[in-house]
Amino acid sequence: MRSGEGPFSLLADETRLGVVEALGDATDGGRYAKLSYSDVRAALPESARGNLNYHLRKLRNRFVRRTDDGYRLSTAGIRVYQAISAGAFHDERPVVDPTPVERRCGECADRLRVAYRDGRAEVRCPTCERCVHRSPLPPNAFDPASPADLLAACIGRARADLRSMWFGLCPYCSGYVDRDLSAAAVTNEGADAVADLRCTLCGWSRRPTLGAVVDRHHAATVFYEERAVTPPTRPEAASDRETEVRETDPLRVVVTTRPDGADGDTLRHVVDEDLQVVEWAVNGSGGS
Ligand SMILES: [Zn+2]
Ligand SMILES: [Zn+2]
Repeated sequence: MRSGEGPFSLLADETRLGVVEALGDATDGGRYAKLSYSDVRAALPESARGNLNYHLRKLRNRFVRRTDDGYRLSTAGIRVYQAISAGAFHDERPVVDPTPVERRCGECADRLRVAYRDGRAEVRCPTCERCVHRSPLPPNAFDPASPADLLAACIGRARADLRSMWFGLCPYCSGYVDRDLSAAAVTNEGADAVADLRCTLCGWSRRPTLGAVVDRHHAATVFYEERAVTPPTRPEAASDRETEVRETDPLRVVVTTRPDGADGDTLRHVVDEDLQVVEWAVNGSGGS
């Protein structure tokens, strides 16, 4: 029979969260720890030690497993401990007002600003008024006193999310990620062609530009490396990237990349509706 108590009401208790935290904190040498009843009790603050047997019974099976020599976290318990460690249960969440950082905007060279509010980090250019990165971040993922730290955490999170979604796995719920070209790719003649990566379970989505999509291709890596140029800072910038719909049925979008410092050499990718590169070619400045 299904228990009437949901996971949130089971955990809405100082002693139970304390048990999960104590078992997680005791982790050492890359293994989650086993603690005896008396060790669990000793790790709890005095005020949370009452009715420990009762609370352990409530946690058992779902969040805590009982073994011959003590208690350890279940996989769900480890998830809860990770959320505690990330600061998800903090009453007060830090706020960082928009603060300039060293990194500059790829379009106008103004200094970017980083901010944090409501569990979300954002990097923006104040002059172009565009958002460069935006990602959810738990409060403990960065030092609120260090804008550089917040910037690094935000960019790292955004890249890791995109990489995971690109491989078809939602970074938050592990659901399957569907990917296709947005309708705008066709209706706007490719002007704002973006990819649509969307989790089929929780709905989390990312919309990288087609420039970001083709930069993942092996030909792009080799092209940039051989010419010792860096990929365009803003993938969709008109000066070094052009997108054009060549056919609509089947959909074929041509992305032409002409990075600064490559002596006019261009890289051409043809992408289909599933964001697969179906053709690519390098053209030298002499034309070919
Ligand atoms: Zn700018
Ligand atoms: Zn998801």
